[in-house]
Amino acid sequence: MSYISGPITRPEGVKAHVGIIGGSGLYDPGIVEDPVEVRVYTPYGEPSDFITVGKISGVPVAFLPRHGRGHRIPPHRINYRANIWALKSLGVKWVISVSAVGSLREDYKPGDFVVPDQFIDMTKKREYTFFDGPITAHVSMADPFCEDLRARLVETTKSLGYPVHDRGTYVCIEGPRFSTRAESRVWKEVFKADIIGMTLVPEVNLACEAEMCYATLAMVTDYDVWADHPVTAEEVERIMTSNVERARKILYNLIPKLQEDPTLEKCSCCRALDIAIV
Ligand SMILES: [Zn+2]
Repeated sequence: MSYISGPITRPEGVKAHVGIIGGSGLYDPGIVEDPVEVRVYTPYGEPSDFITVGKISGVPVAFLPRHGRGHRIPPHRINYRANIWALKSLGVKWVISVSAVGSLREDYKPGDFVVPDQFIDMTKKREYTFFDGPITAHVSMADPFCEDLRARLVETTKSLGYPVHDRGTYVCIEGPRFSTRAESRVWKEVFKADIIGMTLVPEVNLACEAEMCYATLAMVTDYDVWADHPVTAEEVERIMTSNVERARKILYNLIPKLQEDPTLEKCSCCRALDIAIV
């Protein structure tokens, strides 16, 4: 990947209120009307791909495939700062992140959705902040996700009749390898985490630093290696295909409500820096 250090640019007049970051399996939202592909250059280099800007039921949205089209970029090489900065520069206030996860508990089954409320960061070598000095900021991560957006994601998923867990602790590992059995037992039994993935951090904390509302729609594709009954690759593929279609329906139903709901405007996520800058 080449990095561009020249002027920061974005297309004139292109704006979006809602940002969708698509994960594994969701490379193309397929529901965006009047799509225009835009390339945004940022002070942190290039985002994962072109951003598709269009509308869903009249609401301006921006869609970015986290791994790039064709899944070119592994989790540890994603330019999270460029991705979040690019969405912010387009005017995005609400970020809905979609990701595939493994389950660390029997009752979070393959095919279920989870809207996590906590995370544990086990990543190792990423760029975690926009505040590398001289301005220093320590944002609160006590409640890392937007509670308003989380509640609406859960409500919408329930209203469509899909299985959803309204809480969960997401342990984020560095990857790209999967966990050893010993590690998986630590995440499950010592950390008491519920789901596992490789992409939430630092996406979530950068969104907070950018004062955007952020929530994740996680799709369980398999039981992590702790389980005695790992699913086959075909089963994962089948679950992924069905869940991506469901994720699209959830987005299609949720996004029009975001525009109508003025209470989201008052969310504390949008003032995260008020108490963070030293
Ligand atoms: Zn919020």
